[in-house]
Amino acid sequence: TTPFYDAIILGAGAAGLFCAAQAGQRGLKVLLIDHAPKVAEKIRISGGGRCNFTNRELDVRQPHKHFVGRNPQFCRSALSRYTPADFIALMDRHGIAHHEKHKGQLFADRSAEDIIAMLLAECAAGGVERWQPCKVNSVSYQRGEHGAAGVYQLTTDQGPAGATNLVIATGGLSIPKIGATDFGYRLAQQFDLPLVERSPGLVPLTFDGAAWEPYAQLSGLALPVEISTGSKKERMTFHEDLLFTHRGLSGPAVLQISSYWQPGTPLSINLAPNVDLAAALAQAKLRSRKLIANELAAWLPSRLADAWVAQDAEWQRPVAEASDKALNRLAERLSRWEITPTGSEGYKKAEVTLGGVDTRALSQQSMECKDQPGLFCIGEVVDITGWLGGYNFQWAWASAFACAQSLKPA
Ligand code: FAD
Repeated sequence: TTPFYDAIILGAGAAGLFCAAQAGQRGLKVLLIDHAPKVAEKIRISGGGRCNFTNRELDVRQPHKHFVGRNPQFCRSALSRYTPADFIALMDRHGIAHHEKHKGQLFADRSAEDIIAMLLAECAAGGVERWQPCKVNSVSYQRGEHGAAGVYQLTTDQGPAGATNLVIATGGLSIPKIGATDFGYRLAQQFDLPLVERSPGLVPLTFDGAAWEPYAQLSGLALPVEISTGSKKERMTFHEDLLFTHRGLSGPAVLQISSYWQPGTPLSINLAPNVDLAAALAQAKLRSRKLIANELAAWLPSRLADAWVAQDAEWQRPVAEASDKALNRLAERLSRWEITPTGSEGYKKAEVTLGGVDTRALSQQSMECKDQPGLFCIGEVVDITGWLGGYNFQWAWASAFACAQSLKPA
């Protein structure tokens, strides 16, 4: 006979584990299925192995500030019912020490493994059954008769399973080598859920051809910048570190902006955001006998200054001998460096997937599909993408919690 559950959760990642634990602890009979041999590989590699598990600066009244998607307001309800403070309290109950870094980002002191162990302990406390590694071969739905709940029937390589609720927590497409698949999106399509087009987010951007040649030598260089993209009304700006790589640009500044960047459009980068370069160079011209590159090195890494002045003979002379026009052009080029990426490093390097299950198809209270009773979507498979800095995990926890609270027993 087919084993029967109140809920089957597909994907034992951040959202799936947390949802399973919460639902199990409410007394529901829960089965968690994952095709990968290990749970939560993304938690394991996140935050450089220490998992940036949430962010203290999350403002639930203004989700559009830290979340991207067709309708960022959708996540407000879930985020306000399960907050960063709630997850911090859970960590504290498990005695997992953590610390705050830059801009409200919270990390485990020791290892991301501690958070995975905590989630598994929470699942055990909820009596969650787990099939892993386990491949799901098919999912079908039988509508209930006379007002009774319908039933989801699964066939898997560990045999069949049935449930009144099915939760899609299979995540996004990034890092296929640790188990990411499009299974969740395909399942969504099977149930006629609309999808918002997917693309890599929080991803390094690449440049090819002659336009990139002068900068290729800067690989490895990092510096704080102001970076912007988009036209006036939709302009997005971040103040973060930029990293030159041999194929293009990375670092938090570029990862953040990549979630807003539209192919074919330029980025605008201020490489010396803390100084008025035009005024500073004009001042230097009056008092200094140094080369322009040496003057620039007061405000920029000298490798960058050297590479920059090499682009124009008029910049390769003592600042006192340079024309005002040449200095202004130099200041303008450094404080408004406009460059158009040719592409991105793709899902191989992306931290997240933009797009996904259209939030219009889901209830913002429960994450249940409006037109498909008993089917829920949580975590990254939904068209909600957070900024770098712990926002994606907070969305995974909050959407999982909202779902777990609304699952009805069979
Ligand atoms: P996942 O955690 O990806 O879990 C999905 C699960 O579904 C996986 O276990 C997978 O094996 C399983 N699955 C997939 N396909 C199938 C299938 N066909 N059948 C069965 N199971 C399947 N976010 C932060 O907030 N802070 C960070 O520090 C951070 N660092 C990151 C670093 C890296 C390198 C990457 C790639 C991402 C990082 N993220 C970070 C993003 C974060 O990891 C994700 O947003 C988050 O894990 C999404 O949770 P999820 O449960 O929806 O999906």
